[in-house]
Amino acid sequence: MKIETNAVVAFHYTLTDLDGKEIETSRTRAQPQLYLHGHKGLIPGLETALEGKSAGDQFDVTVAMELAYGPRVEGRVQRVPLKRLAKAGKLSVGQLVQVQSDQGSQVAVVKKIGMTVADLDLNHPLAGKALKFAIEIKDVRAATEDEIKHGHAHGDGGTTH
Ligand code: ZN
Repeated sequence: MKIETNAVVAFHYTLTDLDGKEIETSRTRAQPQLYLHGHKGLIPGLETALEGKSAGDQFDVTVAMELAYGPRVEGRVQRVPLKRLAKAGKLSVGQLVQVQSDQGSQVAVVKKIGMTVADLDLNHPLAGKALKFAIEIKDVRAATEDEIKHGHAHGDGGTTH
């Protein structure tokens, strides 16, 4: 079947910046990336590019910053007590940490470390960047009722959470 709303898609991707520098790949993982199409599980530009494709298709797509993680917002810096980041272990500048914000749990980048506080940049690490994906679609199937109800894909043909 072709990728459409409520299709569950398994795909491999390699994400690079526009200079071809690798940022992330699914190919080192045991399983391809899984998502439920049409439920905002992926960045908008990637979801649009996958629409109508089928298993076996391979293609490259360049996603504009606006359709990826959006622009960087200067000043989105939050100062947090180090003890709130204790779980992160020994911190270093540039490290990614998980923090709670108004929008729930999110990834932040450590900008500066003081004696008792750290400054975190709350912009998504890929904000402000156009992204290039090399995609290979491994499988497309219809979602189960549970998957549609939950708004996400389940593993092993829809059975595991
Ligand atoms: Zn679920």
